[in-house]
Amino acid sequence: MAALTEALQEQLRLALRASTTNPDLTLGAAGLEAAVLSVLQGGASIGVDVAIAELEALGIGVDWTLVNEAARDWARMYAGQLVQEIDFTSQRILQKEVAQWIASGEHLDKLKEALAPVFGERRAQAIAATETTRAYAEGNIATWKESGIADYGPSTKPPAHPNCRCSLSLVEEPDGSWQYIWNAANDELMCDVCEGLNQTGVGLAKAAPL
Ligand SMILES: [Zn+2]
Repeated sequence: MAALTEALQEQLRLALRASTTNPDLTLGAAGLEAAVLSVLQGGASIGVDVAIAELEALGIGVDWTLVNEAARDWARMYAGQLVQEIDFTSQRILQKEVAQWIASGEHLDKLKEALAPVFGERRAQAIAATETTRAYAEGNIATWKESGIADYGPSTKPPAHPNCRCSLSLVEEPDGSWQYIWNAANDELMCDVCEGLNQTGVGLAKAAPL
């Protein structure tokens, strides 16, 4: 997964970097949308593939085409929304920083410095990591639902915070019901929120058979 995430991050980074050459400093909408869609579709399709492999190991078959269609539909729908959110945040910070810069009478370099976090690599990486986590979970859930192992969605799902790299899994309880379990990413990026959620139940996926 690491190599793919890296490749996706690179695409998003390039799109964001290219956008800084626009005269008005806004994001290049088409480039950003393509990069975002690529991140989401990449993450969702890994989520689907991993879930299918795990279900097949349990002897449960899944219609690969149907699940992938559902994952692609979700990615297309959510990409538009995400691009709007990214643009909105960028515009808001841009307006604030430009107003402050004009008032200050400082050199242009000062403005460039202030805007670096908005259009820079760090934000691109955070968006790519966070959205890959979201897409992966959506791919998992779509597969579990299609397989019939889950009837309901989880009560909460990753990401829980920017840069969240947590995931969900399903466990069968002794009564035959299936529960969602939160798996906190066990690395230096794990936040307090996720540490508390680690290995706890986050919703009933399927009720016990009668
Ligand atoms: Zn997390």
